[in-house]
Formats: sequence, structure tokens, C-alpha cells
Amino acid sequence: MIPVKIFCGCGQKYAFEVEPVNNLMPVPVACPVCKRDGTAAANEILARILKGKTQPLPPPSVNNLLNSVQARLEPHLVDALKSAVVQELAAQRKELIAAQQAAAAELTELAHRLETVQTPLLDRLQTYEQRIQELERDLADQSKENRELLKLKIDLLRQQIQTEQGASRVNFN
Ligand SMILES: [Zn+2]
Repeated sequence: MIPVKIFCGCGQKYAFEVEPVNNLMPVPVACPVCKRDGTAAANEILARILKGKTQPLPPPSVNNLLNSVQARLEPHLVDALKSAVVQELAAQRKELIAAQQAAAAELTELAHRLETVQTPLLDRLQTYEQRIQELERDLADQSKENRELLKLKIDLLRQQIQTEQGASRVNFN
């Protein structure tokens, strides 16, 4: 069902919901006040709405716009936007997983570099702490996706610190 609102030449507004047939009004409509035929106007409105439904998905920024524009939109357009946002979020999740893998690789690389140059444990831990502090500074003004990634990087570094501290304790015993 598609909601149609007609503004008649006589000044009367009337609205109804219709299931179009071949994208057109299945029955004629007329203004309830002056009885003027509204079928052509209704067909134009249907054409506009149905054209909108088959247009390409809105760009990613729709995600941010959705909340602000929702109140001004027709319900069927809100639904179309929501399904676009669901697809957009699925794409973002894929990016986040890739970014998480990159974060783990980044830490492995850092740990490997420190090991290769035989950095003493205390210096290594200091390097990790420094990196954590940098990341925590970045956390302040990031988008949610970036915040999650930064938190993940910080967690990975903390785990690394625990692992290396644990390993050294075993060595000293
Ligand atoms: Zn009228």
C-alpha cells in the first residue's frame, strides 16, 4: 500500500492508501468536495514514489542523516532508508573486521621489531605503554567505529604487556 496525498485545485487536500496496478491507480479518484477527478494527479504521485523506490541506494552518509530526517519523511521512505542503512552497516562490519586484523598485525609487527633489536623488557613495556597513551588520546574525538578499533588496539597491547611480563617472570624463576 502506498500513501497518496492530493492537493486539489479547489484547495481541498485528501489522502488515501492504494495498491497500484502497473504503477497506476486501480480505480479513479475524485475530490470529496468539488468532485474534480484526481486520478491523473494520483498517477503522477505514484510514478514519483515508485521511481524513488527503484533508484540506487543512498550514499553512506544516509546513516547519519536518518535520525534527523526521519520525522519529515513518508513511512515507506523511512523503510527504504532503513534497509539501505542495514546494508551500509554490513559493509562497515566487514571493514571493522579487516581493521581488527590490521590492528593485530600492527601489534605483532611492533612486538617483533622490539624483539629483533633485543629491546630490554622494561623498554618494551614502556613502548607499549606509550602506544596505549597515544591511542587513548586518539579515543577522545573519534567516531564510534574508530573508538571500537582503538579500544581493541589498547586491549591487544595490554594483553601483550601481560604476556611479556608473565614470560619474564617464568624466566627469572
Ligand atoms: Zn476539489
